[in-house]
Amino acid sequence: MKILVQKFGGTSVATPEVREQVVSQIVKAKEQGYGVVVVVSAMGRTGDPYATDTLIGLLRSISQDVPARELDLIMSCGELISSAVLAQTLNASGHKATAFTGAGAGIAGFQGRTESGEITTLGRGGSDTTATALGAALRAELVEIYTDVDGIMTADPRLVPQAKSLRVITYQEVCEMAHLGAKVIHPRAVEIAMAERIPVKIKSTFLDGPGTLISAEGGQRELEVTGRPVTGIAYVNDVAQIKIRSQEDFNCGLGLEVFRTMANHQISVDLINVSPDLISFIIPESVSDKAGTALEELALDFELNPGFAKVSAVGAGMRGVPGVMAKVVEALTGAGVHIVQTTDSHTNISCLVRQDELACATQALHSKFGLDKK
Ligand code: ADP
Ligand code: MG
Repeated sequence: MKILVQKFGGTSVATPEVREQVVSQIVKAKEQGYGVVVVVSAMGRTGDPYATDTLIGLLRSISQDVPARELDLIMSCGELISSAVLAQTLNASGHKATAFTGAGAGIAGFQGRTESGEITTLGRGGSDTTATALGAALRAELVEIYTDVDGIMTADPRLVPQAKSLRVITYQEVCEMAHLGAKVIHPRAVEIAMAERIPVKIKSTFLDGPGTLISAEGGQRELEVTGRPVTGIAYVNDVAQIKIRSQEDFNCGLGLEVFRTMANHQISVDLINVSPDLISFIIPESVSDKAGTALEELALDFELNPGFAKVSAVGAGMRGVPGVMAKVVEALTGAGVHIVQTTDSHTNISCLVRQDELACATQALHSKFGLDKK
């Protein structure tokens, strides 16, 4: 039997009305002859009673520091509730369904089990990963990720209302967009699909649009059609910039000490610039207290500036094309956005900007690279 994996995100299972739409997508696939495996996220977003953030908030309202074990335990509940509710909905409408936990299904799902039997989770975006991992294990014909937008778009439509949905994109490009902050799919989910060559489609639960097909050739075709060096704009918000100055050359071991300290505190650093007398990098704002304390212990002369965001222009088509950086700078300075720091690779250019200039920066890059045109 040909297998289809369908994953429904939080907003797609939030209310009885939208769950009816989910049922009709599942039934449609069943009628086409598929064996359907459904993966669900916790119901709704922050503030909704069974959303993961709400559940975590339940513990954090008691005290901020939640041990990893209890965090996993409470984080695993949202998906359990959601799967039981959807199975009940399907059964009530005459379609036989059974809800499983990850471990119950004999797989490492969003909620799994450690070797010693403790409950654990795949963390944020884990349901996307469960879906593609299941798709790979079951050799599914396709993995469909249903969400509240019609596919991978040229930018987050919440910041750029003119953003357009892409028809096709390569695994690599979407993986890079996801790593650079595009929340529409989790990067690990794409990596699994890419390794196993399982096609993935991102679609809207609510609109009958074409969605985006992620496959090996997708973006290349898009590039040939549009000739654009940039495929999309992604961002990461809520980052803090750290700048460390030294009279002594950082190459004399001090630089190593800085990065080792960050590593020992499990702090992931990004947008790293090292010169003999200055080191700068960014960290998630959520760990800035921890980073500040660690650097104070090293007795270094440092600045920790919160309130930044990283905005990135992403595209396989920029490799070796001259003038992309000039366009980025032209777009941002033209829009009055102050560029604080930059970094780049063959397929992206990232700029650190002030948080209050993020929307403006994203829109300026989006329009400079012609992404609002079909
Ligand atoms: P779900 O709960 O269905 O997994 P998410 O909130 O995780 O939904 O992902 C969907 C959201 O991702 C969209 O509502 C959109 O605001 C955001 N998003 C960010 N970047 C992009 C992008 N490039 N394309 C589409 N959506 C994006
Ligand atoms: Mg998601």
